Amino acid sequence: MAKRRIVLTFPKDQVERPIIYRLSKDYDLVMNILRAQVMPKEVGRLVMELTGSKEEINQGLKYLKESGVEVESMAQDIKLREEDCTHCGACTAVCPSGALFLNRTTWEVVFDRDKCLLCEHCIPACPYRVIESTF
Ligand code: SF4
Ligand code: SF4
Repeated sequence: MAKRRIVLTFPKDQVERPIIYRLSKDYDLVMNILRAQVMPKEVGRLVMELTGSKEEINQGLKYLKESGVEVESMAQDIKLREEDCTHCGACTAVCPSGALFLNRTTWEVVFDRDKCLLCEHCIPACPYRVIESTF
């Protein structure tokens, strides 16, 4: 099974169309919606994780693009400027998924992007403002 995190942008005229459900119905993909900004008659954005075979994911993404949805990789959504991090640990206390955790061997804070839920709780928690969101 493969996983892929993506950001979808829906044009104003597509926002109310039932597009997403077909990813599970026709392409057998498991969808985990991490964030959503959807308002009638406005550009919509969804952040989601897709799980399925590589072929099913590629077919699902092709379908989305053919439906007029812009598809981007989610690689840069939460950014931690590691060179400025003091490893104080404040962010690990508010991270609900364990994406930010203390390595007990090196005593450094590590960011595991695959576990990140994009909740943004860590951004105000960092006293040095080294965590940013590009969402
Ligand atoms: S955005 Fe949320 S889940 Fe992701 S690292 Fe920050 S606190 Fe953890
Ligand atoms: S709160 Fe900021 S400085 Fe402290 S460990 Fe987290 S990212 Fe680094």
